[in-house]
Amino acid sequence: MIDPQIQEELKTKLLEEKKRIEENLSKTETGKKDADREYETAFPEVDRDEESNADEIDMYENNLAADEAMKGELEKIEKALAAMEAGTYGFCANCQKEIPLERLRAYPQADTCLDCDGK
Ligand SMILES: [Zn+2]
Repeated sequence: MIDPQIQEELKTKLLEEKKRIEENLSKTETGKKDADREYETAFPEVDRDEESNADEIDMYENNLAADEAMKGELEKIEKALAAMEAGTYGFCANCQKEIPLERLRAYPQADTCLDCDGK
């Protein structure tokens, strides 16, 4: 079992990270609206249209990818917080061993040990 004091420390980290991601997510939402406005003003310039549209689509897709990555992290954080509540926090979801504390400190939303990471 993880030390309650350490868990509390990691929980604070998770909540801070959660807040940070949520703020970033709302920023990209605003970014999308700005891109829409630019698209409207650029529209009458027929010659440059194709190029700027392609750029905007690239930007939009990059934002989407970043959003997806952030949402994935957010999900992990929610899971970790739920596991803390349930008293199952700190165990590898794959091999059920305890996740080393150094790893949890570096990445508190980890749900696998380093050996199982990415498998
Ligand atoms: Zn493992």
